Amino acid sequence: MHHILSKPPTLISIDGAAATGKSSTARALAKELKFLHVDTGAHFRIVCFHLLAKGIDPSDRMALEAGLDKFSTVTEIEGLSAILTINEQSLDDSALRTPEINNAVSKFASAASVRDFLLNYQRSLTTFAQEHHFEGMVVEGRDIGTVVFPKAHLKIFLHADEATRIARRETDGQEDPISQRDALDSTRKIAPLTCPEDAFKINTSLHSLEQVVTLLKEKVGNL
Ligand code: C5P
Repeated sequence: MHHILSKPPTLISIDGAAATGKSSTARALAKELKFLHVDTGAHFRIVCFHLLAKGIDPSDRMALEAGLDKFSTVTEIEGLSAILTINEQSLDDSALRTPEINNAVSKFASAASVRDFLLNYQRSLTTFAQEHHFEGMVVEGRDIGTVVFPKAHLKIFLHADEATRIARRETDGQEDPISQRDALDSTRKIAPLTCPEDAFKINTSLHSLEQVVTLLKEKVGNL
């Protein structure tokens, strides 16, 4: 018997600093294309949640490894988004966007063991997408086009001026030290936030979400 394997999913990476519009853009683009949406920031946040709950310090390598070892991962689909759950605990957005997590997440995200754990998981999502018959994935984060999927079919890098980004977070009503997070995320040794060389750059302070999504849809159409 022959198994007909579907084509590997088309990969679109969206990277950028905090509050540059990654999530809104990634969600809207995934909806237009009927692709799977993956928010890798949420992965780091849920790992941070569970490590904090165990009282683990981000600089304690042994404790981090022991903590990660006890994590079992399951992926659920909500709408078009792939959601990571750890140890069968579903957490909603409000549990992952607390000031405590906003303050700690970049420290955990600079640890090699945390990045390794999530890199393997994130790469496994191409198979997950295929199994669930998605033609493609829109994956947002900081190192997607550079490290996680360096061969992505389309790489996008979003940026926006700092005043716009801070105003966006204030509108969201979130206490979020975005300048500190960006500084840690851009200067860490492993997989720092940088613009992939072959990325298409968009300044989201200058365009509406609708304009950005229309532009990106055109780019995908030309792939
Ligand atoms: O995207 P979001 O702001 O929710 O990401 C939270 C944090 O997760 C980032 O500040 C960063 O420290 C980490 N992160 C990362 N690599 C990614 C996505 C997020 O290091 N690909």
